[in-house]
Amino acid sequence: MLAELRGLNEECGVFGIWGDPNAAQITYYGLHALQHRGQEGAGIVVTDGNSLQAVKGEGLVSEVFSTGKLDHLKGSGAIGHVRYATAGGSGIENVQPLLFRSSTGSLAIAHNGNLVNATHLKKHLERQGSIFQTSSDTEVLAHLIKKSGYATFEQRAKNALSLLKGAFAVVMMTEDEMTVALDPNGLRPLSLGKLGDAWVVASETCAFDIIGAEYIRSIEPGEFLVINDEGLKVDRFAFPAKRAICTMEYVYFSRPDSDIDGINIHTARKRLGKELAKEVQIEADVVTGVPDSSISAAIGFSEATGIPYELGLIKNRYVGRTFIQPSQDLRERGVKMKLSPVRQVVNGKRVVMVDDSIVRGTTSRRIVTLLKEAGATEVHVVISSPPIKNPCFYGIDISSSEELIASNKSVEEMCELIGADSLTFLSVEGMVRAIGRTDEGPEAGHCLACFTNNYPTEIFTDTILPHKKELSR
Ligand code: SF4
Repeated sequence: MLAELRGLNEECGVFGIWGDPNAAQITYYGLHALQHRGQEGAGIVVTDGNSLQAVKGEGLVSEVFSTGKLDHLKGSGAIGHVRYATAGGSGIENVQPLLFRSSTGSLAIAHNGNLVNATHLKKHLERQGSIFQTSSDTEVLAHLIKKSGYATFEQRAKNALSLLKGAFAVVMMTEDEMTVALDPNGLRPLSLGKLGDAWVVASETCAFDIIGAEYIRSIEPGEFLVINDEGLKVDRFAFPAKRAICTMEYVYFSRPDSDIDGINIHTARKRLGKELAKEVQIEADVVTGVPDSSISAAIGFSEATGIPYELGLIKNRYVGRTFIQPSQDLRERGVKMKLSPVRQVVNGKRVVMVDDSIVRGTTSRRIVTLLKEAGATEVHVVISSPPIKNPCFYGIDISSSEELIASNKSVEEMCELIGADSLTFLSVEGMVRAIGRTDEGPEAGHCLACFTNNYPTEIFTDTILPHKKELSR
């Protein structure tokens, strides 16, 4: 669905490469592939072995790195970041990679995720004299590294990482090496690849495909990789905890051409649609998916039920970011600018509309209305995930419980509110089964907290929701 219209946004994407003379240019292409993970800011930091140089700004990757901007980024190591700016947390100072310079050397950090103990650590560091330049929790890591008493950068970084709680896929770079770490639960995806002799890391494997890199493996929870001119060293900063990869990466966030832990996203989404078809009986004439993320599930639902799949909704790809407005009213009006029903497909038909999730419900209501205005006689909404009832503390900008329609209303009430003829959600068990991870236990290595309220890490009383980060300023 259209994330920006309904309050469900990914926080960021990270990329890094070591050992290629065109490191900055390759990072640019990698960030392009990760653009769906954040459109509000982008940055690249490059090292030539002596110093770090950065270019970053607000906007899309193509806007930030307009003609000539990459030309002076020379060196064979680079890290990059695309950012989704949380409300009030936007501003150039928060665009990553964050770059810190000191007399002992420079450090660049790119982070995807959200730390649940950032406020606690920040207060502690401030009491010790630290002064923060951003409202980003990522800066906490830099201060912890700087203050750590260990002798080498690697020891200081491992010590600092071991103090963090929550979700963090981190790529860091000094003048002479790149380091990569993933939180002990492995909440966010992070993969390792190879491009010729160069090592690459990325939030999603689609970034490897665009640059022609070979996928090697997923980074493991608690791992700490050091990559420099001597090669790759695999180390750990923590023992792995209970695996809890974000389920919404499979359901909604990641690109269909990416794989997470060997599972292709498009294929997993098709299976979600097939699983849905087992859980609901609907008589209908056509199946359509809300573009783009629900199309795979709609195809799966169609294949399993035999109801033909049709393009009943078209996304207007040329609506600029200017139309991404935060207010509810503008969000609702924005749907019409972004989506159009195909009248010839839905007119006089009973339509199954497949979507991946419902957050506030306002967008679903608008889409159901669009389909009915275009002549659909019935609209049956089927959702390829369970009801989202709880906020996310791990880097997905899911609204607080008060704004989540499923935390306040029954399925029947939701159905009435969105104006559908029926509404069905996939069960938690069906979703986990369809995705097909093979980890032990009923949760099979997933974080399911926004559905089940069972958070894989402790949550602190002062943990800040990603969309409320402005409060931390
Ligand atoms: S709470 Fe939901 S959105 Fe957040 S990490 Fe867990 S599964 Fe993903």
